[in-house]
Amino acid sequence: MKQLIIVFVTWLLLGISTTANASEKVPILVYHSIAEFTGHGQKELYVTPENFEMQMRYLRENGYTMLTFESWQETENVSKPIFVTFDDGYKNNLNVHQIFHKLKNDQFLPAATIFVISDFIGRNNRLSVRDLKMLANSGMFSIQSHTATHPDLTKAANLDDELKRSKLKIEQITGKPVIALAYPFGSYNNQIIHHTQKYYLYGLTTTPGPYIKSGLKDEYLQLPRTYIKYSTTLDQFKEIVQTK
Ligand SMILES: [Zn+2]
Repeated sequence: MKQLIIVFVTWLLLGISTTANASEKVPILVYHSIAEFTGHGQKELYVTPENFEMQMRYLRENGYTMLTFESWQETENVSKPIFVTFDDGYKNNLNVHQIFHKLKNDQFLPAATIFVISDFIGRNNRLSVRDLKMLANSGMFSIQSHTATHPDLTKAANLDDELKRSKLKIEQITGKPVIALAYPFGSYNNQIIHHTQKYYLYGLTTTPGPYIKSGLKDEYLQLPRTYIKYSTTLDQFKEIVQTK
């Protein structure tokens, strides 16, 4: 009887510890500009450097592991996996690099994915070729594709060109594989998925909510992302990044 109880208790403890380690939800966040809002564009697409730093500090202090899509498989192994992404490749994403530099230590390596519009690289308020090389070589950023010209892909005439040309151009700049695409305006359908998987392993939408494994075919080409906005409070942020 005693032995039976020991076996039962061990089984119970093992059971509890496995469920305690596995993350059921993988939050994928989307940002645009990390800068003070000075009246240009939509305010909600900005997050101040101060708020952004507070949010990243929260991740650091609470045991999150920041991942990029090259290491997607790690979502199954690491503690509290999370993806932080930036759309459109704004120059002010250099502020992110500065903040990451400040926050990294032996236990915490910040990481993020920047989805750039390949034809916009080097424009006035966008990251330049030099910026992208620097970010890609910093070990903290993955540079991925947000198409060549940022069309609504469901209406684009030159679909393969948008997908392929942008991938090749970014790979040429960074010397690293481009495997993820963020659909402009979060707009996609079955035909877009079909074309996207010719060149990419991951497709990012703007359907809010965390990723929860479904096992469905194509789930990696319809990954959800939640906006972090100018008005998002730290309490709301904490809620969004829950992994349980
Ligand atoms: Zn965009």
